[in-house]
Amino acid sequence: MANYQYRCAACGITWDQVTTKRQAEEEREQHRRECHGGGAPDGDGIGPGTAPWPSRGVLVIGLLVLALFLFYNGRHGQ
Ligand SMILES: [Zn+2]
Repeated sequence: MANYQYRCAACGITWDQVTTKRQAEEEREQHRRECHGGGAPDGDGIGPGTAPWPSRGVLVIGLLVLALFLFYNGRHGQ
């Protein structure tokens, strides 16, 4: 799933990741209104989120399945 993240370079702030571009655009508009008088600060923009892949959850489940597989083979492979 794609993630979007709004960053304002002028303020040095990166917002939390959101799942739709629309949400990121709303955050951008709100921040521009509140902090920059409705103008666009230099260097602000919406980019892809920084979620690592595979995510930590997927990695943990994968290791768990591997451990169970090895455990099962160890018990029944004699
Ligand atoms: Zn800003």
